[in-house]
Amino acid sequence: MNNQDLYNKTVFYLNTLCADIPERCVGSEGNRAATAFFKDTLTGLGWATETPEFNAIDWIDGGATLMAGGQKFKVLVSPYSLGCNESARLAVARNLAELKHGDFRDKILLLTGDIAKEQLMPKGFVFYNPEEHQEIIALLESTGVKAIISATGRDAALAGGVYPFPLIEDGDFDIPSVYMTEEEGQLLLPYIGKEVHLQSISERVPGSGCNVIGTKGCNRANRVVVTAHIDAKKGTPGAIDNASGIAVLLVLAELLKGYTGPWQIELVALNGEDYFAVPGQMNYVMANQGKFESILLNINIDGAGYFEGKSAFSFYDLPEAIHARVLETLAKYPGIKEGIQWPQGDHSIFIQYGRPAIAVSSDWFTENINNQDITHTPKDNLNIIDYNRIVEIAEALHDLTSNF
Ligand SMILES: [Zn+2]
Repeated sequence: MNNQDLYNKTVFYLNTLCADIPERCVGSEGNRAATAFFKDTLTGLGWATETPEFNAIDWIDGGATLMAGGQKFKVLVSPYSLGCNESARLAVARNLAELKHGDFRDKILLLTGDIAKEQLMPKGFVFYNPEEHQEIIALLESTGVKAIISATGRDAALAGGVYPFPLIEDGDFDIPSVYMTEEEGQLLLPYIGKEVHLQSISERVPGSGCNVIGTKGCNRANRVVVTAHIDAKKGTPGAIDNASGIAVLLVLAELLKGYTGPWQIELVALNGEDYFAVPGQMNYVMANQGKFESILLNINIDGAGYFEGKSAFSFYDLPEAIHARVLETLAKYPGIKEGIQWPQGDHSIFIQYGRPAIAVSSDWFTENINNQDITHTPKDNLNIIDYNRIVEIAEALHDLTSNF
């Protein structure tokens, strides 16, 4: 297959994932269409496939209104929140001490300032969950508040490029919540102690999702696991986050179609990187208990294919011999360079289990991860993708995996 054919297939894969399928958040129809498409393509290329399933709720956002002193405030429903229709006195907590010592029973609680500076990790997110976040969540659950309003700014590291960001995004947290901008929060402060009315129309919809695992080769004692997350945040086509990673896996599946090397190659569409409960990642970790030792290397693709700058490969705990071979191989690809290490991706799961990993991304993505307004927004669309980058990465990975 020549480069033009691979390029055309890349265009087809990305258009299917980002245009034909309008959204790929876990639990949605689109997510199930995306995993079915990935599985069918792998099967068509002669890969053995498995699709381990899990339950995952979807979310319908019906909007929210907040009234205080006859005035209407602009609020957004926190993703996956329960809805509410409550009148109550407004209270405020700006930091942990105020949250600890205030009496908030039966009130509507405004969280602003220091306590609302970064997105709280969901209760079920075990891979990274600071103690302070867990403490805030536990305190909120013990306050007896009727609902929560958070006033937030930007938190590119944890919440992407959205403004304001939802302080709480957790389908396992059962206090209804909404969020607003910091400016709107300032305007609300004069109403502390006064009665306000919050109506939020929000619905959790039971659903399901699956990972897709394609394998070649039968040496289960020596596995190379190439991963990319297939889900996207609600409200974004998720082109660079992470349809481009899935397209790399599919082009690689084509290039490795006839693989007869000494390893088992696993191509895994992980389903849940951008979803509060990371169900696909949890499912994969559970299924691999006692088997991580057999993974020689993880290669995770996330944020690849940005149209400016180069593709960035970063390395984590690679054994010396593999590291040298990798550098030698990548030197042949002019659009690829060594990039800075970054922790916010599924490669960190493998690193936590002591496995060597390579993260594949874009220079732009890793350099600006804390300072951009594209990820998790409608701006993450196919206009920012260079399809040639996808083909080049797949070719480099083919080179790597078939020549160890
Ligand atoms: Zn991602």
